[in-house]
Amino acid sequence: MYDVLIVGCGVVGAAMAYELSRYDLSVCVCERSNDVANGVTKANSAILHAGFDCPVGSLEARLNVEGVRLAKEICEKLDVERREIPSFVIAFNERERKELDALYERGIANGVPGVRIVGPEEALALEPGLNPKLIAALYAPSSAIINPWEYAIAMAETAVTNGAEVRLCSPVTAIEKVPEGHFKVTAGTDVYEAKYVVNAGGAFSADVYRLVGGNDLKQTNFCGQYYVLDKNQGKLINSVIFPCPDEHGFKGVLVAPTVHGNLIVGPDSYVVENGDCVATVSPLLEELQEHGHRSVPGIDFRQIIHEYAGVRPNTQIPDFVIEESRICPHFINLAGIKSPGLSSAPAIAKEGAKLLEGCGLVLNEKKNFIDKRKRIKFRELSREEQEKIISQNPLYGRVICRCETVTEGEIVEAIHRPIQPRTIDAIKRRCNAGMGRCQGGFCGPRVHEILARELNVSPMDILMDEQGTFLLTSPIKEADDYGA
Ligand SMILES: Cc1cc2nc3c(=O)[nH]c(=O)nc-3n(C[C@H](O)[C@H](O)[C@H](O)COP(=O)(O)OP(=O)(O)OC[C@H]3O[C@@H](n4cnc5c(N)ncnc54)[C@H](O)[C@@H]3O)c2cc1C
Repeated sequence: MYDVLIVGCGVVGAAMAYELSRYDLSVCVCERSNDVANGVTKANSAILHAGFDCPVGSLEARLNVEGVRLAKEICEKLDVERREIPSFVIAFNERERKELDALYERGIANGVPGVRIVGPEEALALEPGLNPKLIAALYAPSSAIINPWEYAIAMAETAVTNGAEVRLCSPVTAIEKVPEGHFKVTAGTDVYEAKYVVNAGGAFSADVYRLVGGNDLKQTNFCGQYYVLDKNQGKLINSVIFPCPDEHGFKGVLVAPTVHGNLIVGPDSYVVENGDCVATVSPLLEELQEHGHRSVPGIDFRQIIHEYAGVRPNTQIPDFVIEESRICPHFINLAGIKSPGLSSAPAIAKEGAKLLEGCGLVLNEKKNFIDKRKRIKFRELSREEQEKIISQNPLYGRVICRCETVTEGEIVEAIHRPIQPRTIDAIKRRCNAGMGRCQGGFCGPRVHEILARELNVSPMDILMDEQGTFLLTSPIKEADDYGA
């Protein structure tokens, strides 16, 4: 019997597991995908928002500001890529100028440090990449960009290091409250027992809630698409640039550098059937170019190397839904975690832990909690450090991903971490192999071989990403040589 079973291992489930693993508790996370952080957490703007556009007095506003403060400490401890950069909201006309005042007032009320309105000269001095036609901008120095999947993976791995269990390929399909008072949770072919259940199902949290009879959450699915541009475009700006929200309140298409040195432009917003609809769609996607140019005219869209889309985990309730269910005691909803959910995740987890404590879970702090994680990033080492590490382990002397300078040593190390990556994209999320200009065109087959070798499985069994994404369908010769 587990004390707590968490459904879903995106950034919210991972933060919840990390938070609970500080205490003497048995914790299990069931994730339907074959990797953690494979849902909304891998497809967003990757921004730790300053917190100026959340409604005053909302959970979102409080948890956003608290979450980014906590993120700073967590990223340092767990070795997660994060870079502090300012953000601008830019206005080109009087309607937009008025929007800036409203955002400024909210920023002040939400306790966002350093937020102010600047004129065009100062805006352009601070960020020369901006469109010089702007008439004013809201400047917020306290935002940051982050590696969103690394953030979730780091928290989930640390939870496992501290005794939590993460079960991949475990879709929760039934949750029964038995007369003894605990839950029986069916995930795949297994049944788990737990005293408390936490719903961190992201864009599927309404479906998860329905498993205990909760019919009052309605998931709304708004897709948002992005372009990723090559590293030569990443240097165009050193801030996150938002347009002013439009007349319908749509936040608009932003332009931002990524922690990997690329540039992203997106997202748009259109309705899709469900949270799995993340295919990108032409010609909607192409419209992003016009929006991007309006904010940063210097963008060269011939440098696009990738595109992706994510679905916002909205419900009909305007705020985050963080509550013990009224119809099912000891069932906690962390639902409707739309933007700024990435920014808020560790604060949401603290709120979740408080709710669990409020409904009877005893939180005794562990004496030996391990709150540290470090990984070798070969290309960031000095020449001497690189030579030293190669002399200790020659696998670090073999570069597999040429675009990102990722070595075999880093890939092998990633495969043997607490939550084992089993797909080519899972390796990409662990150590960047395949993230560069060629998008894995060169290193993909090498990563494939290394995965098969280290996992001791046939290359036929290695997937690109989600279940069913096989790369090899049948051997073409010397079938007996395929083996393991
Ligand atoms: C376009 C876009 C831009 C965004 N930009 C930002 C931003 O810049 N900054 C910011 O702070 N936030 C941003 N967000 C919001 C942020 O990405 C989300 O709030 C956050 O990732 C949600 O995390 P999650 O863990 O709740 O969801 P997810 O990451 O989707 O995790 C939920 C997990 O639950 C699993 N699951 C679902 N059902 C089941 C089941 N039955 N059994 C087992 N597992 C299940 C899923 O597979 C998934 O892995 C953005 C979102 C979008 C879509």
